Amino acid sequence: MTQFQRALFNPRRVAVVGASASPGKAGALFLRNLTSAEAGFRGEVIAIHPTADELLGCRAFPRLAASPKPVDLALVVTPPAAVPEVVADCGAAQVPVAVIISGGFAETGARGAELQREVARIAKATGVRLLGPNCFGVINTTSGLNCSLSIGLPSHGGVSLVTQSGAYGMAAFSRSIDEGFGFAKIVALGNKIDLNEADLLAFLGEDPETKVIAILLESLTDGRRFFEIAAEVAAQKPLVVLKTGRQPGAQRAAASHTAALSSDEAVLAAALRQVGAHVVEDGKTLLDVASALDCQPLLRGNRVGIITNSGGTGVELTDLFEERGLIVPALSPELQATIASVIPPHGSAVNPIDVTTQWEHFSKMYAWSTEALMESEEVDAAVAVLLQRSALMPEVADALIAASKKARERGSLTPIHICWVAPRSADANREKLRAAGIPCHEWPIATASVLAATVTKPPRPFAQPPKWQEIPRPDSGEAGWVASDAALSLLQEAGFPVARWAFAADSDAAAAAARDLKFPVVLKAERPGLVHKSEADAVRLGLCDSMAVAAAFEDFCRRLDAGSAIVQEQAGPGVELAIGARRDPNFGAVIMAGLGGVWIEALKDTALRLAPVTAEEALAMLGELRGRTILSGFRGRATVSADKFAQLISELSQWFAAASWLGELDLNPVIASGDNFTIVDVRMRVANHSLSS
Ligand code: ADP
Ligand code: MG
Repeated sequence: MTQFQRALFNPRRVAVVGASASPGKAGALFLRNLTSAEAGFRGEVIAIHPTADELLGCRAFPRLAASPKPVDLALVVTPPAAVPEVVADCGAAQVPVAVIISGGFAETGARGAELQREVARIAKATGVRLLGPNCFGVINTTSGLNCSLSIGLPSHGGVSLVTQSGAYGMAAFSRSIDEGFGFAKIVALGNKIDLNEADLLAFLGEDPETKVIAILLESLTDGRRFFEIAAEVAAQKPLVVLKTGRQPGAQRAAASHTAALSSDEAVLAAALRQVGAHVVEDGKTLLDVASALDCQPLLRGNRVGIITNSGGTGVELTDLFEERGLIVPALSPELQATIASVIPPHGSAVNPIDVTTQWEHFSKMYAWSTEALMESEEVDAAVAVLLQRSALMPEVADALIAASKKARERGSLTPIHICWVAPRSADANREKLRAAGIPCHEWPIATASVLAATVTKPPRPFAQPPKWQEIPRPDSGEAGWVASDAALSLLQEAGFPVARWAFAADSDAAAAAARDLKFPVVLKAERPGLVHKSEADAVRLGLCDSMAVAAAFEDFCRRLDAGSAIVQEQAGPGVELAIGARRDPNFGAVIMAGLGGVWIEALKDTALRLAPVTAEEALAMLGELRGRTILSGFRGRATVSADKFAQLISELSQWFAAASWLGELDLNPVIASGDNFTIVDVRMRVANHSLSS
């Protein structure tokens, strides 16, 4: 732990700057939260106040520097205009970290943003680390530190929550009261003037008290670094992420397909999958999934066994699971026979296991089936539906708890969850199950959403360093577009399968060049600013002799004014694929692959990753394509080797990563048949920063 991390989570002395004794003021609330006997924080709490000697039982000083002992953490609740001076005081008193609760900064407009920049400048100059401003604060349940707006300290557990929204800091407390969720640390980021999600992720990844990390993101400040850390952390402990603001109204105006098809949100979602995060779509599921991962073993596969006293609910759950990528497989005849021995003949032991409505045998049937499922190798998770009568019977909950305990003692690592559908009068039974660490989800839909989001995939190597030396930059023309001839040459020199071509400045040269290639050939006009050639009727396919080539060249010159052309061997027939890449200011190199050709933007069937990627990762990308069956020879068309395509994607991603001057790269189409791939159209654009240098 670095000094500021220790100061933030385990301070020996906290100073409330802007402290007050008037009830209803934030300065009083924080003093009370920090000194509450229930929370049990054992560090010293002092108040900073212009005149008082004592406030709500805490010693008070006029300035931080007046404290006779060093302050580790300054909690700032002053009006915003006073914050720059307070941060300067922190610097003077060598306070390592300040949590700025005060609002009135960038979230309020231009003037607030200027004030925030001033605070940032002072913090940087004085070396004070900052959390916030405009944030909910920090909680550490181990040390009893409630340095937050929360009305109480949540109970202790393994979930650490990083949230940009203060409301979820509050929600953590209420979920811990109502549902028994346990938290280790809670950190609200606010406006992220200094400390951001990547800093906290790195810290919590190494924090032995944090078993599961839950993150609620509104924006991502330091995308590339966040994902590099996330990949390492997610290989050690579960990382559950909710990203809000997924539906931005604005779409990037873009000339290349890659730019058009890789919005920030699309890249972010892909990168979260790439690093193996558990991605959820809402805040309640975020906390439910994190808590389930905290109290149950990881779900390592997708097979679920269901035990139910309602056949209808079993069917409903099966649908919901299978729509979310889980399966409810039929059990083996042996396992069915074991289970059938305790259930009535009109029940079912296939899966879902239907114990029928014979409530007098519920305890035995649930316990026996739970143990059988948890100890079998046939399912990866067990779900018991406790619905109405089975939920109302205390002995059923007791029997389930005992059965799961027994299975655990015998070494079972199968997670167990409850699908709970019952009146409030059954709540005591639910409490018991929860206290035993068995998550109870209300109704089938929540059960399915939570369970599906707990699936843990084996870690995959992330963004390997490029194999290539830095690729030298060619001359580029208008707006940074590299001429086709130069772009094709670069790829050919790197060993990529480019269709044979020649550059032609006039019709005679085009006709002569065609004779050196294999007919039929394709003629493509080159004009400054012409990026989508077929839209301007500037691609002529199927030219079978040099006369036709010369005629096509003349035609281009008549219609598009004078200029040069590319003569290229015609590839195919085959499937038209696309590979693209771009450099993003926040995420770094991004790679895209999918079905190509002229329909690419209409079909939007592409997959994204942070680059570079391994061939294995590229293969996973292809698995995400809606049209992936087209690769395996749809309706008599050529089949395409997915392994070879994945290899090509991986190599291009490596090459792109090494061409740091390159802003955008589009290969569309790559014409593929079997093991053969031919790149026929390339677009390259020099990165903006590199243009101006
Ligand atoms: P643009 O994308 O600028 O319109 P392309 O060079 O991609 O121009 O050509 C448009 C279409 O023409 C391609 O999607 C492909 O179907 C076909 N095409 C282009 N070059 C070749 C080639 N060498 N062999 C076979 N088909 C080609
Ligand atoms: Mg094209």
